[in-house]
Amino acid sequence: MTFRLAQADDRAALVVGDGVHDLAALAGDEALSDPMAALVDPELLHQLTEVAAQRPPTASVSDVTFGPPVPRPQKCFAVGLNYRDHAGESGMELPENPLVFTKFPSCLVGPTADVELRSDGVDYEGELVVVVGRGGKDIAVDDAWSHVVGLTVGQDVSDRPAQFAASPPHFDLGKSFDTFGPSGPAVVSLDSIEDPSDLRVRTEVNGELRQDGTTADLIFDVPTLVSYLSRITTLTTGDLIFTGTPEGVGAASGRFLSDGDTIVTTIDGIGSMTNRCVRVSDWR
Ligand code: ZN
Repeated sequence: MTFRLAQADDRAALVVGDGVHDLAALAGDEALSDPMAALVDPELLHQLTEVAAQRPPTASVSDVTFGPPVPRPQKCFAVGLNYRDHAGESGMELPENPLVFTKFPSCLVGPTADVELRSDGVDYEGELVVVVGRGGKDIAVDDAWSHVVGLTVGQDVSDRPAQFAASPPHFDLGKSFDTFGPSGPAVVSLDSIEDPSDLRVRTEVNGELRQDGTTADLIFDVPTLVSYLSRITTLTTGDLIFTGTPEGVGAASGRFLSDGDTIVTTIDGIGSMTNRCVRVSDWR
């Protein structure tokens, strides 16, 4: 049975309908209160979802605060310019190989967390996020989906002035400010997703649709990314891959995020996040 693994009030939880079920309580194993431990055994998550469906929930989704469903990945990759239309609006050449950078795991926050702005040039990038299940090295493209434990929604929030403060640009810093990695609300297992290679990704700012793309337009698709990265570094359970953003980012129109803005990021069949922006300081 499809599982939705979340972090609710700082504990691993399974979401079934509108109900939140404490995972450690379901399993009778306190070690499973940590979502990182829970990701190791997806078969157990399927089984416990069936158990949960027969029981009253611990809480309702409206009564808890969701954190990032994968709070401490060993690695958090992100891919730039992975949609043709976005590469075009950025004035960049289409890449021959994936343009990969790091979002430091310390930037990860939950699906309702505030995004802290430290300049007037902060941008949104709605993205599909891949969660690695079974780790590995030199994973074949054909085998790559079997190394994915689930998918979630992410925002690759980007401070453009910081990103382009150096030449050539250094993506890691501008995309790793604290709070720049909203993710969630849950890691959704692949069995519920009709076609994981064609998922609609939307970003709204203050109710206005700014991005509306599909992962069918990825230049480097999920299996290609998993395989490519695994040829360089051993992938580990819980590693995240932000797969890139479709066209419509603020940098293309000069409309950046401001204090009080609300970002809603939605991927059909996976979930939706609502993050408010707060202008807290200036980074320089
Ligand atoms: Zn991005």
